[in-house]
Amino acid sequence: MNENGKLLELQHIQQIYTSGTRRFTALQDINLTLKEGEFVALLGPSGCGKSTLLRILTGLQKPSEGRVLYRGEELRGVNPYATIVFQTFALFPWLTVLENVELALKARGVPAEERTARATDLIDRVGLDGFENAFPRELSGGMRQKVGFARAMAVEPELLCLDEPFSALDVLSAESLRNELMELWISGSIPTRAILMVSHNIEEAVLMADRVVVMDKDPGRVIADMKIDLAYPRQRQTDGFRAVVDQVYALLAGQTQEEALELGSMPGEPGRTRALPAVSIADLSGLLEYLSEKAGDQDDIFRLSEELKIDSDMVLSLVETAELLGFATVEKGDIRLTALGETFAEASILARKEIFATRIRRLPLVRWLLDMLQRAGKHEMDWDLVKAALEQEFPPDDVEAQLDVLIDWGRYAELIAYDDQSEKLYLENALADAE
Ligand code: ADP
Repeated sequence: MNENGKLLELQHIQQIYTSGTRRFTALQDINLTLKEGEFVALLGPSGCGKSTLLRILTGLQKPSEGRVLYRGEELRGVNPYATIVFQTFALFPWLTVLENVELALKARGVPAEERTARATDLIDRVGLDGFENAFPRELSGGMRQKVGFARAMAVEPELLCLDEPFSALDVLSAESLRNELMELWISGSIPTRAILMVSHNIEEAVLMADRVVVMDKDPGRVIADMKIDLAYPRQRQTDGFRAVVDQVYALLAGQTQEEALELGSMPGEPGRTRALPAVSIADLSGLLEYLSEKAGDQDDIFRLSEELKIDSDMVLSLVETAELLGFATVEKGDIRLTALGETFAEASILARKEIFATRIRRLPLVRWLLDMLQRAGKHEMDWDLVKAALEQEFPPDDVEAQLDVLIDWGRYAELIAYDDQSEKLYLENALADAE
């Protein structure tokens, strides 16, 4: 056994790609250690080098510089102790579930007479008992991915690498497969000693991992390595969970300022309540997508008005919103996306909503409204009543605009609902149920 249970060690990994005369640093000085028993999640926007890093640490690719150590020994060639599960796992359509798993055992040199029993046991462990003789086309996406896991397990990898294994699944299948993997992992019923999971999903990372490593791009590098001190099994709807999720978002947003200074105070508390910029989500998304296409994810603010064909007041409101939510930083007249902004620009509709919801929950005005609705009978309030409360904070002309933004943002984030007919605001179900 090597020192301190270190399974994998990346030392000063550098990856440079060249195309023509251009040299491009895809990974810059990556140092990362995985110990036995650890589940590490790797987060970061597309292009920050996550796939490259996975290929390097499994030995499928040799880095331009640096060393990969496995159990203290320098890795040469493919790492026989590591397996990668990809986003969509290719199964052989003409083979049954059982045969697909048996094939992995055969490739590993398991004798024919042992294969069926071992494969049946693996299929059972991922919760597919009874589907041994089904063909892939008969299975749902979630079930196919389970067969993928069973095949990966057949190799009995010490190091299991997961490359966004749940992102191609629907919400329910993804959650059930996450739970099953966590059960296998925590109960120690698989021989895997460490897991490294590439993810785009911050909540997923906090739900599963002991450590979250955050990367950013241009050049691809590690910007934070954070331990997640929450007991398993973790519950999404608890304050502790949300607090950690918030911290990870703050890391991705590159937040340095004391939050209270930047965000203002709640209505009714001393200090100024910051008004929300009157910006639609569609416009904000448009700006972030536009910036993510630009070199260096940045642009001169004064150019945006012309390029996006919107007036300069609107540009300033959009820039202010992007900064307020931690999607961009502004310096010397330039706006530049943060890792969080890049993540948002690339995310699916559902993931965008989740990111947006987490960010606006920090805003004092949103917190204030959610608190009020939480306390209100049936978690609902008349629009007039909320308006009257806001009149204590803002000039009369601004009140309705503020309320419109709150409703618009709250609806998009699926935190708040508004019924036009009855003119009532209420909490979205998940929040009301979570009490
Ligand atoms: P991620 O998985 O985080 O999206 P990748 O590792 O796929 O990142 O890519 C990191 C960067 O390196 C990207 O800008 C990508 O275009 C570039 N890249 C990846 N593979 C190659 C290659 N074989 N040749 C040139 N550039 C590459």
